[in-house]
Amino acid sequence: MKEDTEKISCHVCKKIIPKAAALHSEGQEYVAHFCNVECMDYWKKEKEGEKKKE
Ligand SMILES: [Zn+2]
Repeated sequence: MKEDTEKISCHVCKKIIPKAAALHSEGQEYVAHFCNVECMDYWKKEKEGEKKKE
């Protein structure tokens, strides 16, 4: 039961990182994890782009 060593993959680049070190963005439907701010920004921009298509 060591939460510190739990691993997750970045939502954008799929890099494996410790969950404790991950950034996360709480969306309306789910929580996405990211290895760094750049990946989080990339994901946010993609989401915004999808909305604008409608
Ligand atoms: Zn990443």
